[in-house]
Order: sequence, then C-alpha cells, then structure tokens
Amino acid sequence: VDTRYESAPREGSVKILTGAVDCDVHPASPSKAEILPYLDPYLAESVLQRGIESIESVHYPPKAPITVREDWRGPAGAGPALERMQAHLLDGMGVGTAILNPLMGVQLLMNEDMGAGFARGLNDFIAKEWLDRDDRLRASIVVPQQNPKLAAEEIERMAADRRFVSVLLLTASELPLGKRYYWPIYEAAEKHGLPIAIHAGSMYRHGTTGLGWAGSHSQDYAANGVNFQTTLTSLIIEGVFQIHPGLKVVLSESGITWLPAYLWRLDKGWHGLRMLTPWVTKMPREVVAEHVRFTTAPFDAPRNAETVAKIVDHIGNDDLFLFSTDYPHWQFDGDHAVPDGFSDDLIRKMMIDNPRATWSRLEESA
Ligand code: ZN
Repeated sequence: VDTRYESAPREGSVKILTGAVDCDVHPASPSKAEILPYLDPYLAESVLQRGIESIESVHYPPKAPITVREDWRGPAGAGPALERMQAHLLDGMGVGTAILNPLMGVQLLMNEDMGAGFARGLNDFIAKEWLDRDDRLRASIVVPQQNPKLAAEEIERMAADRRFVSVLLLTASELPLGKRYYWPIYEAAEKHGLPIAIHAGSMYRHGTTGLGWAGSHSQDYAANGVNFQTTLTSLIIEGVFQIHPGLKVVLSESGITWLPAYLWRLDKGWHGLRMLTPWVTKMPREVVAEHVRFTTAPFDAPRNAETVAKIVDHIGNDDLFLFSTDYPHWQFDGDHAVPDGFSDDLIRKMMIDNPRATWSRLEESA
C-alpha cells in the first residue's frame, strides 16, 4: 500500500501579477504556549489546569500531511511560520497582499464562552505576531460561531483595526447559515463593511455529509462542495441579502465548477415556487452576481485548458473569481496556482480588480 499523500504535480511556475491579492491563505495555528499570553487570565489558567492539548489545532494538526504541502514544509518544518510564508508566498511567488484565514478550530468548542475567549486570543495573536510584522498581510476576524451574539461582539471589538478585512465562518455550522439566528453576525459585518468569508470546514455538530458521518477525510472533503451549495441556498432563500443589501460573501475553498448546474437547478426551483418565498425578488443567479464571490484554490477541474475554458464560459461571469493559493495546505497547487485555460483578462480581474471590489478595506491600502 502506498502511504504517501500525493500533492498535485507542479507544472512550471505561473507569473503572479504585481499587486495580486491572495484571497485564502492559512497562517500556522499557534501552539498552546504561543496563545496563552493572549488569553484572558481565567481562560489561560483553565487551559493549564485542564491540560487541553487538543486546542492546538483540531482542523489542521501541525504535523499532519494535509496541513502543509510536503514540498513547502522545509527541513522538518523548521523555521518560524511567518518567515516560511514570506519566503514561499510573498517574496517567492510575489503575492502582493495575502488575506489570512486562521483555522484553529475554536468554532468546535462546545463551551460558548471558551470559544469566544479563544477567538479573542487568536485575533489578538494574529494582529501582533503576523499583521504587525509584515504589512502585506491582512486577516479575517475569527468569531465564536457557537453564539452569534458573542460573534457580533467580537466583530465590534476588532472592527477598528482596518487590517482585519472580513469575518470568517465555517460552512458546516450548527444550523444552515441563512437562518435568522445568525443575522446578528451579518448585521455587524455589513455595518463595518466586512465581507463574510465562509471557509470549508465543520463545527462537527452534525455528520459531515448530508447523509451522516463519513469515514475518511476524502469523503469529508468531497462533501464540503455539497455543504457549500446548501449554505448558499440557505443564504439566498432565507433572505439574508434582502435584509443586508450591502453584505458580500466569499466562499473560500468551495470550488466553483459546480456553480452552473447548481444555479440552473436553483433558478428553476425558485421560479416555480417563488410564491413560497416572496421576499426573494431576484433570480438566485442575480443574487450571486451581486453578493457572492469564490476563491479559486484548489480548483476543481481537470488540468486541461480547453475543458477549463469551457467551464469558465458556462459560469459566464468573470467577476465571481477571486485568486487564491490556499497556502500552505496539501491541496495548495504550489507554483501552479492558476489553472491553464484562464484568459489574461480573467487572471487580471481575479488577482487585482475583483478582490479590491469585494474587500473595501483593501482599497484603503492600495
Ligand atoms: Zn483555505
């Protein structure tokens, strides 16, 4: 049995345009020792007393093969994580601005106050240990998804720091994300001009597929695509964008090639049944065009330029694409971060124009 995790083959480097924005990048999760000084004293003491080792990262344990693409790990993963990111992504590939989406798993905790405490500590850690040290970095605010009221409070606490440019949620939540229960998060985000970045991942309150628990990471990862479709349907049909017309949503690590068939189906359903949801006054594809964007990595299509060009044509809207590398995860395509088959015009839009139109706070530093 071959036990290797096979990273995508690298097929030559692709030029990253000057000023390119990488819209989904992952900083290494802090160790327990690193995060402790940023926690409220009570929580820090509690973590020490209880020996909560697993807090270090449930989603992406530091040594797991999926956490860092093998050829980007370096000798035994040595060296500070920020310096590795600078060497590989910022200086190496020439990414101009990277938006950090920290995946430490704080959303998984069953205790709402502990989730809120870790979110506060993590945001303060990211500000001091990452954003203060490289002005090419921006970040999403991590919020306690366990409790939307506490999540909105954390958005209010962090919003004054303009280097925080969006709010991070995981797609598989306790309830579908369009439900009114979550609207305090959207209200706070809209108020401060912060897009909601919904990333692949689960709070593990339910089976990771719509049919129940899967038995392997490959099943979980494939199911994420379906979870994103359910999330998007929920946001559109529950009326989130009618209530919050200024809100933008970025689906991160969602894939995008499923979008044409999904919208054909949803538009048809909406058209026939719109008397049931009269507040949805526009076709779902119009709502998506106005409010929703998609990061590109890992790109879910064959490595065939002709096929990719056809899919882009089916999607039919270059504004929807946001360039990302998903650095440094296993799915990260390395130097080959742009699929063959994207036109020069699409590449310029997804690297520069579309991110700046999506994150108003990026314009401030342009
Ligand atoms: Zn990602």
